[in-house]
Amino acid sequence: MNVLLVYAHPEPRSLNGSLKDFSVKRLEDAGHVVQVSDLYAMNWKASLDANDSLDRQTGARFNPSLDSKRAFKDGRQSQDIALEQEKLRWADAVILQFPLWWFSMPAILKGWVERVYAYGFAYGIGEHSDARWGDRYGEGAMAGKRAMLIVTTGGWESHYSPRGINGPIDDVLFPIQHGVLYYPGFDVLPPFVIHRTSRIDEARFSEVRDALGQRLDDLWKTAPIPFRPQNAGAYDIPELTLRPDLAPDQVGFSAHIE
Ligand code: FAD
Repeated sequence: MNVLLVYAHPEPRSLNGSLKDFSVKRLEDAGHVVQVSDLYAMNWKASLDANDSLDRQTGARFNPSLDSKRAFKDGRQSQDIALEQEKLRWADAVILQFPLWWFSMPAILKGWVERVYAYGFAYGIGEHSDARWGDRYGEGAMAGKRAMLIVTTGGWESHYSPRGINGPIDDVLFPIQHGVLYYPGFDVLPPFVIHRTSRIDEARFSEVRDALGQRLDDLWKTAPIPFRPQNAGAYDIPELTLRPDLAPDQVGFSAHIE
């Protein structure tokens, strides 16, 4: 299988750097082909702007969505964007690996998502009408591919527990797992989260490595998070609110998980 690892940490000798190297070796030893997009090493341009289209016209009003649509359709995207899209097409599984920074991904990785997920590539696909809101949330260009997060946090596991002060980790990661990954069609596996990173010594590092290795071995076996698909009848159209008879007492993120 082909695995794309999109990795965002500025220091190769970090915990994230060690785990990235470990993951690549483990996957390759199991016979998979791995490509790594090491965003800091690539000096990835994080901000989406008018220069993302090769047809930028001086003085023309920049429209982030429509310019992205045109550049994608005409094959006039900046080369770095097109190369990452090609890696996504190639991949059977995509891993995003990053330290949790301010409750989300580092800006460089957010910028990868914003620029690589072009209109027509990751969104704006399929019929858009009063009766249908396109192919997304379970359908779309990434359908049939798997995705997983590897995330490190300074906070303790309890800080991210159901009543923890930071909010449950599944809620913190929901915009990435449901928004960034499920939206364009990925089957999203439960995340691999390493908490309390300041307390990692050799013994704990070895435990973490073993647990991560097992998750990588199970990449094609692990059941995805059962997010509710948009176009299978669970949502009223066109409001796209969950049908009142489904999980009637639930609101918020967890209502969108079967
Ligand atoms: P490192 O600092 O590189 O390493 C952590 C520990 O692992 C060290 O003790 C190191 O000795 C050990 N280690 C590293 N490599 C090895 C190895 N090969 N073998 C054995 N031990 C090793 N945390 C939150 O919980 N929520 C937040 O919102 C949040 N926001 C942040 C925002 C910013 C801007 C920053 C800088 C940090 C934030 N943090 C937050 C903390 C952050 O998530 C952690 O610092 C990060 O996850 C640690 O990962 P690292 O790869 O940088 O670890």
